[in-house]
Amino acid sequence: MTGARVLVVEDEASFAAALEVGLAREGFDIEIVHDGVAALDAFERGGHDLILLDLMLPRLSGVDVCREIRNQSSVPIIMVTARSEELDTVVGLEVGADDYVTKPYRLRELVARMRAVLRRAESEGLRSGVEAVTGAAEAHKVRVGEVVLDRDRHEVLVRGDAVAMPLREFELLALLMENAGRVLTRDMLIDRIWGFDYVGDTKTLDVHVKRIRSRIEEDPRNPKLVVTVRGVGYKVDRKDFSESGRTR
Ligand code: CA
Repeated sequence: MTGARVLVVEDEASFAAALEVGLAREGFDIEIVHDGVAALDAFERGGHDLILLDLMLPRLSGVDVCREIRNQSSVPIIMVTARSEELDTVVGLEVGADDYVTKPYRLRELVARMRAVLRRAESEGLRSGVEAVTGAAEAHKVRVGEVVLDRDRHEVLVRGDAVAMPLREFELLALLMENAGRVLTRDMLIDRIWGFDYVGDTKTLDVHVKRIRSRIEEDPRNPKLVVTVRGVGYKVDRKDFSESGRTR
């Protein structure tokens, strides 16, 4: 993780300068660009382990940049927003950002988020490597109703069609499906998916669930698979699918 290559997209000179010094001191290898178009150019050149993306940018907004990058890559993205941009933050998460921080932030908080996101990206990489080796013997596939999730192939099939899903959403759905029928609490889900040291907003969890529903539910506003257990958390319901008799 030391020496992780970070693309910083920040148009405000004072923030950019502070990040350049502060993040370099923390051992990150920083590349800074100052607008949305330059961000996509830099991304195309590749090699970044993490992207720190300001929301309000000249030429192309952070949301557009995020959406564009997400179409091509699962590189971790942390969105940086001002407090007044709450709504845009939710949009940012909906287009695939992994996390967000709100300005003004403390460098220590930002670095903690960056490390957490990098650590999870790294452990996911390691795990998929391990599973690729043991894959045939221990096919890691779960089926609930019309949804099949395959950890080895990092694939979700809904009614037979492959559905693209960013890493965090995939992990969250996998956890819920592997525990189908059981209620998983909000705290437990946040710990397992974002890490015990997660310092962000719990709204992030709800946004991820909403995104999952929009991909896999027939009617996302009336979810049948990933259901809310009010005041507690979420669960994958297998009851509704028992008629089909195919739970796995
Ligand atoms: Ca800005």
